[in-house]
Amino acid sequence: MEDLENLKAAIQGKKILLFGPPGCGKGNRSRDLEALGLVHVSSGIVLRAKVCDEPDSELSRKASHLMERGELVPDDIIVPIIMEHMNGTECRTNGFVLDGFPRTKAQSDVLFSQAHIDFVLYLDVPRKFLLYGIVEGNRRICVDCATGYSDFDPPKKESVCDRCGGKVITRADDNIKIIENRLALYDEQTKSFLPDIASKANVEILPIIVSDEEVIDDKYLKHLKGQVYRVETDQGGRARMLNLEGMRNRLYNLLAEKFM
Ligand SMILES: [Zn+2]
Repeated sequence: MEDLENLKAAIQGKKILLFGPPGCGKGNRSRDLEALGLVHVSSGIVLRAKVCDEPDSELSRKASHLMERGELVPDDIIVPIIMEHMNGTECRTNGFVLDGFPRTKAQSDVLFSQAHIDFVLYLDVPRKFLLYGIVEGNRRICVDCATGYSDFDPPKKESVCDRCGGKVITRADDNIKIIENRLALYDEQTKSFLPDIASKANVEILPIIVSDEEVIDDKYLKHLKGQVYRVETDQGGRARMLNLEGMRNRLYNLLAEKFM
């Protein structure tokens, strides 16, 4: 997009929350927002960093055990870590994108009582695409900067991150049983409070798939604006996922429409 510098200026200082199921592309959308100058606040990265820094602490042992099994890390561990990050100078100056938090209604209540969120970006992806993307797509992650890759969007050189040169590995928490566990948790504990979030902040929908017949342009986004859009899974045969570049363009168009 030619107006990239204008878009950067327009979204500086904005506080954006990413919402959606495991495997919907929160990590990569965060990267796209980070490229515009926002700070990426990821519960997964923050926790992994904590576990790496202090591997022998009680907190680290508890957190890594839960993460490995795809279970939720309790509020008393994750909430203070995330809030501390968000209240730092960097986040306050540049704005931030929150990824993987809040995951429970209690976390959401703390967040919205302490921070103003400019808008929520909801990445809605049908389940069959999630499972396909994570399992069949051989999803992997850079150990240094956490950029996500898959067979649909592989790194240019195998096992080497395009972005930072770091090592790209298969995520330890990506096997079918753990993913099903995470999806079930998302349905039970996370998705259920989306209506509550929608009552506190403006929710924008960023669809990740298009049907083959569909033309991807701003008209499509306008049509979806302001409503929670659910793609029917029986549409799956005709629908396809956008690649990283397609999703980035779609996201930037949405932001330009909203803030410029
Ligand atoms: Zn990297």
